[in-house]
Amino acid sequence: MEISLRRVAQMLGEAEKLVITGHIHPDGDSLGSMLALYAPLAAQGKQVTLLLDDELPAVYRFLPGAELIRRPAGPVAADLLVVLDASDADRIAGVDAAVRATVLNIDHHISNTKFADFWYIDSQAAATGEIVLELLHLMKIPVTADMATNLYTAIATDCGFFRYANATATTLRHAADLMDSGAQPHIIAEQLETKPLDSIMTLRSVLDSLEIHAGGRIAAVTVEFENGGDSAADTTEGYINYPRNIEGVEIAIMFKPEGDGATRVSFRSRRCDVSRLALAFGGGGHARAAGCTVASGLAAAKKEVLRAAERLLAESGL
Ligand code: AMP
Ligand code: MN
Ligand code: MN
Repeated sequence: MEISLRRVAQMLGEAEKLVITGHIHPDGDSLGSMLALYAPLAAQGKQVTLLLDDELPAVYRFLPGAELIRRPAGPVAADLLVVLDASDADRIAGVDAAVRATVLNIDHHISNTKFADFWYIDSQAAATGEIVLELLHLMKIPVTADMATNLYTAIATDCGFFRYANATATTLRHAADLMDSGAQPHIIAEQLETKPLDSIMTLRSVLDSLEIHAGGRIAAVTVEFENGGDSAADTTEGYINYPRNIEGVEIAIMFKPEGDGATRVSFRSRRCDVSRLALAFGGGGHARAAGCTVASGLAAAKKEVLRAAERLLAESGL
């Protein structure tokens, strides 16, 4: 059932035992939103658990409270399972089966499948972190410096540090509020930009893999880790900006073979709606940033996805 933000605040107020989760392949928005909501609820004496069925990328370990996030290890009973920044039950993987509770989903994905018992979806919000900040205001919860760091990271990472089309005047006002509460943008940016040497070495091979299709309108890169599998502690966020930023490119794609024979695909676009592409392959996202996991291996996935991307270009008149 769709509910108002006020009703979300009420449900959080009434619950005594809560689990907070976010999507797998976690990003700044899912993690920052989880941690910012966790702190005040735990401080109110509620029993709150942070669960995530994935590894935490090393770049996000600086987020205050990140060390409290656990992987599900057996069944958990709770009053409420709060699912943040995830548009479908698949996106929380094992947490869905592990937690017996009423499910409340707070999200900003246009592709949200309305899988929860209760949901609040604002597809105009640049990040789930924006909704969480409004929720905290509604609950009259003072925003501490740690909460501000988490929410600033959530918001800034989802709108390319205020450069993408989803960043609004409200987004910038939220960021200013968070600075007033103690968020330090230059320190957060430095944390996110400092990468292990391995990550830059991987970038070399990523750039080497660059392919141009559709007369320069589609650019694709492939991320393959040297150890053959998925380096779970690493993050490949950011690599897709290289094909995205090439002049004339309408759709940028990043392919990443997963350990299990499937291929993870990310999409970015300048003008067309790539959430349609991602949805067609069982994923989702936003008009200009979306993703999916295709069951086939790299070569087959590339063929299928590139063909669909060319079709989208034609349908979009681009
Ligand atoms: P990414 O390419 O992983 O940065 O994802 C871009 C956007 O698409 C983010 O908002 C993701 O939350 C969303 N997204 C990525 N993969 C999926 C998926 N399998 N299902 C639904 N949404 C996704
Ligand atoms: Mn996200
Ligand atoms: Mn998000």
